[in-house]
Amino acid sequence: MTAADVRTERGTHREQREHVAALHSYLTRYQLVTWTSGNVSERVPGEDLFVIKGSGVEYDELTWEGITVCDLDGNAVDGVKRPSSDTDAHAYVYRNLPEVNGQVHTHSPYATAWAARAEEIPCVLTAMADEFGGPIPVGPFALIGDDSIGRGIVETLSVSRSPAVLMRNHGVFTIGPSAKAAVKAAVMTEDVARTVHFSRQLGEPLLIDQDDVDKLYARYQNVYGQ
Ligand SMILES: [Zn+2]
Repeated sequence: MTAADVRTERGTHREQREHVAALHSYLTRYQLVTWTSGNVSERVPGEDLFVIKGSGVEYDELTWEGITVCDLDGNAVDGVKRPSSDTDAHAYVYRNLPEVNGQVHTHSPYATAWAARAEEIPCVLTAMADEFGGPIPVGPFALIGDDSIGRGIVETLSVSRSPAVLMRNHGVFTIGPSAKAAVKAAVMTEDVARTVHFSRQLGEPLLIDQDDVDKLYARYQNVYGQ
């Protein structure tokens, strides 16, 4: 344990911390993360709290104890690890988007390659219309350490149906009604980023008409939505 680790361990919210720790296995399974980067968080139902991966915790040794409980200002209230360095961004999103109960952040390679060029991923696949309801948008350049990443996520996703945003020069942030839904959005973001990239190598992918995007999105959200 380093001096930077917090020492407020009380072992609360253990079941939810186990659940969120387990969800991180999707990030490694789908190769969305390298070393200790990336994180999953989830709002604690009925309390002004959320749980998030601890900073610098390696995926192979991630158990419930590697998940820290934070208040909505991003302060650790229970856990043995300092919360992820992305905690301020997650906290800002939970404070400003009450319908969001889960978030994921990754630097997954294909999607982050689009983010590095600040180019949105155009809606050229029916699976994109289903899941994202249109293109996956780009958010502003923002430095870590204050609310600017969180503000960029909220501003970009407030005017988009997409549950994912490519933060410029940084990576992927996704939101959802649960942590699992945000994980799915992160997995699908990388999947479509890769496929549209491949398509680009062959020529210009064809946009789906807005009318058809709307129909696909409405149908999918009705059948599979919450
Ligand atoms: Zn990051």
